Amino acid sequence: MPRGVYQHKKGYKRLPFTEEHKRKIKLARAKQVFTEETRLKMSQNNANFWLGKKHPHSKETIEKIVKANKKNGVLDYFKKHKFIGENHGLWKGNKVGYDALHSWLYREMGQPDTCEFCGKTGLKGKSIHWANKSRKYKRNLNDWLRLCAKCHYTYDRK
Ligand SMILES: [Zn+2]
Repeated sequence: MPRGVYQHKKGYKRLPFTEEHKRKIKLARAKQVFTEETRLKMSQNNANFWLGKKHPHSKETIEKIVKANKKNGVLDYFKKHKFIGENHGLWKGNKVGYDALHSWLYREMGQPDTCEFCGKTGLKGKSIHWANKSRKYKRNLNDWLRLCAKCHYTYDRK
């Protein structure tokens, strides 16, 4: 490096944020708010799930519990109480639930590459799926089938 390149570091003062930078900060914050909201929704679901009751806590109570736990560094108080038994259903559209279930399947079964319907082998990635027999997304290996994309499509429309 030629001399003088780092000169500005002496007594360096942060330049005021550019408009672009400000926009980015705003965006990041907005994103955070959305995440919090989503997390709360999930917490509510998980709380109901965990207690096996329909509405064990009011929204305010849940917010309080989540907030209090967060203060103590517990970010997923309700999340970790999920999936205690194997017959808990998985409500539709909860990505966290799906991911947890799929990582469980992966741990238990690995990633078989054969379709149990048409017998096609060597399937991987998006060309082979886990299909759920009961549609209740049980934590029961007998409730799951390894199907190629095509058979899965047909299977789900039976
Ligand atoms: Zn198939």
